[in-house]
Amino acid sequence: MKKSLINNSKRIVLKIGSSLLIKKNEFNHEWFKSFIEDILFIRKKKIEVLIVASGAVSLGCHYLDLKKKKLRIFEKQACAACGQVILMNNFKKAFQKNKLIPAQILLTYSDTEDRRKSLNSRETILELLRCGAIPIVNENDSVATDELKFGDNDRLAARVAQIIGADNLILLSDVDGLFTDNPKKNNKAQLIPEVTDINDRIFKMASGDTNIYGTGGMYTKLEAAEIASKSGCNTIICKGNQKNPIQIFLKHKIGTQFFSKEKGGSSFKKWLAGTIKVMGDLVIDEGAVRAVIKGASILPSGIQKISGKFFKGDIISIKDLEGKEIGKGVTYYHSDELKIIKGKKTSEIKILLGYDGRDEIVHRDYLTLNE
Ligand code: GLU
Repeated sequence: MKKSLINNSKRIVLKIGSSLLIKKNEFNHEWFKSFIEDILFIRKKKIEVLIVASGAVSLGCHYLDLKKKKLRIFEKQACAACGQVILMNNFKKAFQKNKLIPAQILLTYSDTEDRRKSLNSRETILELLRCGAIPIVNENDSVATDELKFGDNDRLAARVAQIIGADNLILLSDVDGLFTDNPKKNNKAQLIPEVTDINDRIFKMASGDTNIYGTGGMYTKLEAAEIASKSGCNTIICKGNQKNPIQIFLKHKIGTQFFSKEKGGSSFKKWLAGTIKVMGDLVIDEGAVRAVIKGASILPSGIQKISGKFFKGDIISIKDLEGKEIGKGVTYYHSDELKIIKGKKTSEIKILLGYDGRDEIVHRDYLTLNE
């Protein structure tokens, strides 16, 4: 690895997992102290910092004297409520000693996936950064419903990075970075220093057995890097369970850096590209794929198949005939209406649906294509 992305950064999201913050069920003060040195080091370079920190459930579990493995959802949520207080209390104490200002932001999936709420969160976080505070983000585990949950803070951190327009996302892990294979099982596995294209081959390296690291595992870290990349944010995965992990990374450059190719683009499209969950799929024919790549909207004539139940305004995945996702978009029609007008001419919409709807199923302004 030749150059590091950190030095040219303006705004960094730093994700630290439970395995770093907690040791023997307690807050790991020793590691945290050295991590704060890293934060001071980054801030000296006039880089804004936001931290995504987890550990609420584990800390709360210990506090309430419950066994983590056997917890039911509501028990976990109760643990998170207690643990989050312990987490922030420790942040506050350590921050105060170093004249740093902590601010707590708890987000649920619905906050990031709803455009209006995501913009609202953005404004709050940017204001905190303007005031010189360091936002500490976690998922609002106590109220999040299980079906609609990030579950891992890697993807939450990537979504936050997109929402606040960060240029770097650092995922501090308990491994050095992405390896060609599971380094614990294959001693020939090699660390990949740089990735410019997060494709199936890259995902394969983190599948199966390799998915044993950290809280979210390497696979979710790659998903996070992919979300960040779509919004023009680079990602670094490096070893966090050591003293001064960031400064060590800058010195030895051991880790994996993911370079985003995305430059420019509207903030709405970046948000759309990073959406975690889609409500359905739209399969379009080859001609329509060619047209959207050239910048056209999706018309009924190009639609081959519709799956899932979705409403006007929902985000859907756009796929080619082979089932490969080519992008995401906001649908103007309900899935049941699309089943009626699929493959038809725009001039037939009025007769088929009984009202004069838009020609475009997904307008190009509400469509984003994968890299
Ligand atoms: N939000 C969870 C917590 O604070 C952790 C999620 C994760 O480990 O990535 O316990």
